[in-house]
Amino acid sequence: MIHFRKPLANVERPQMEADVVIVGGGPSGMACALRLSQLIDDHNAIHPDAQLSKENIYVLEKSRETAQHLLSGALLDPRSMRELLPGFEKEAPIDAEVVKEAVYFLTEKGKFKLPITPPPLRDHGNYVISINKFVKWMGEKVEAAGITVFNGFAGSELLIKGDRVIGVRTDDKGVDKEGNPKSNFEPGYDLKAKCVILAEGSRGSLTKQLVARFNLDHDRNPQTYGVGVKELWEVPSGRVSKGEVIYTMGYPLTTQEYGGAWIYGSKDNIVSLGFVTGLDYHDPRIDPQKVLQEFKKHPFIAHLLEGGKMIRYGAKSLPYGGWFAIPPVAGDGWMILGDSAGFLNSQRLKGIHLAIKSGMLAAETAFDAMTTNDFSSQQLRTYQTRVDKSWIKEELWQVRNFHQGFEHGMLEGMVHTAFQQITGGRGFHERYASVPGHERMQTLNTLSPVGDDRAHMLGTAKGDGKLTFDKLTDVYHSGTKHEEDQPSHLVVHDTNICATRCTVEFGNPCQSFCPASVYEMEEAADVPGGKQLRINASNCVHCKTCDIMDPYQIITWVPPEGGGGPNYDGM
Ligand code: SF4
Repeated sequence: MIHFRKPLANVERPQMEADVVIVGGGPSGMACALRLSQLIDDHNAIHPDAQLSKENIYVLEKSRETAQHLLSGALLDPRSMRELLPGFEKEAPIDAEVVKEAVYFLTEKGKFKLPITPPPLRDHGNYVISINKFVKWMGEKVEAAGITVFNGFAGSELLIKGDRVIGVRTDDKGVDKEGNPKSNFEPGYDLKAKCVILAEGSRGSLTKQLVARFNLDHDRNPQTYGVGVKELWEVPSGRVSKGEVIYTMGYPLTTQEYGGAWIYGSKDNIVSLGFVTGLDYHDPRIDPQKVLQEFKKHPFIAHLLEGGKMIRYGAKSLPYGGWFAIPPVAGDGWMILGDSAGFLNSQRLKGIHLAIKSGMLAAETAFDAMTTNDFSSQQLRTYQTRVDKSWIKEELWQVRNFHQGFEHGMLEGMVHTAFQQITGGRGFHERYASVPGHERMQTLNTLSPVGDDRAHMLGTAKGDGKLTFDKLTDVYHSGTKHEEDQPSHLVVHDTNICATRCTVEFGNPCQSFCPASVYEMEEAADVPGGKQLRINASNCVHCKTCDIMDPYQIITWVPPEGGGGPNYDGM
């Protein structure tokens, strides 16, 4: 029997009181903590008799060290950072300022450079950063400001009373595979908070619980996602200059799939390269990790990487759905930030600046609640108003229908984009509809025959060990580690479906869409169908693709024991 990771029942748990708990120490969570600290400092300086304390403000972060689980391209639009910390460039870890950009359309062997870079992809003035280094630096500032960051603690459950979120339960530590406490067992904390701020990143597990519990998405478009698979390379000097940005469209995807690649030149001949595959493709055999490997085989890309060395690997999902897929972002006892809410501009392939801004607006709301000691739902909902009046909405409103326009492929998508561009984001309808990406996946018997156009994306990548890599080699370069003796954090609610219906209908696509070789169908003589699902949970790089793309929606990603996961040093 497989035991899944959830807090043990009937365990006495340490109780802690908090004013504000921020779940997730990424850019939005850290920006929130930092802004709240600034506001408290300013308040305390002018109100010596009404001091506010930071003692009961906590950031929970599931990685052992701050920012270890963060992955992004990454290009930073500095707008929000300039508001948070004017002059931050003087001390922040910035690898390069963008000085050159180009957009290419790739065919199998050829390339066509767009004569002008479309405005959304003009990045002059943005910065090439490592999101790990950058957020680590933000985290140091948060701690120096007197706010406690609990590293290695995942939020595993929301504490809810009636209709109000009243806190977060952290993960139990020291639970074995069978779900029994080990000798080092430590129960998770019950952090009772006046306000819980969810900054968990894309497809946050607590955010998912919250949205389902309060039916927050009932009048929204379904959120849609892409998965970005990234490698960091060290290349011979002169291949990609510092501050050079290249975007590509086309190969290896066909006109039926959504996605594209980025190449960012950083300092010291480090190149960030990755491919985002929209998680709404039709063919269940498509493998996003293989898509990246095929991309590197294109003569243009292979030449850039020749003689270089891959040094890191990782993957992350990103929310593409746009403005109409964002749920209400505040309610009774809670607020939602960044990627967890869906604040991402998919046309610009950027979300860090929006995440930071959302953290700042939530901090201003929490600060008002602290000064008035009013944490009511009405008070916290002013965060929603702040977002609606901010440049977050202004920016996202312009691209509100962008991704939905690609529903019928790239060519039609470009027509929609062009029309949206001249109608302020509206396009042909006020609100384009959308369906969840997993619903687009077709059963094997309804797929059009595989012609030459799609065959290269199917099957697992073998890798030549120089330019291309198999998944396990790539995963090794993600530095991923988990405690082996713990319940699986990939909850498959009905493994019979995997062995029976899914094998026949979709060919077990989890083996393809997971970029870390977590899922394997292995021979098992004593079960119906002769195969059973094996879950190599310790490989998991926490991208959440399985939670998103499983066609039966029977996979739930929950946080593993705090501390486990990738080590995205320099990514
Ligand atoms: Fe991503 Fe799921 Fe695979 Fe983990 S198991 S790497 S979350 S697809």
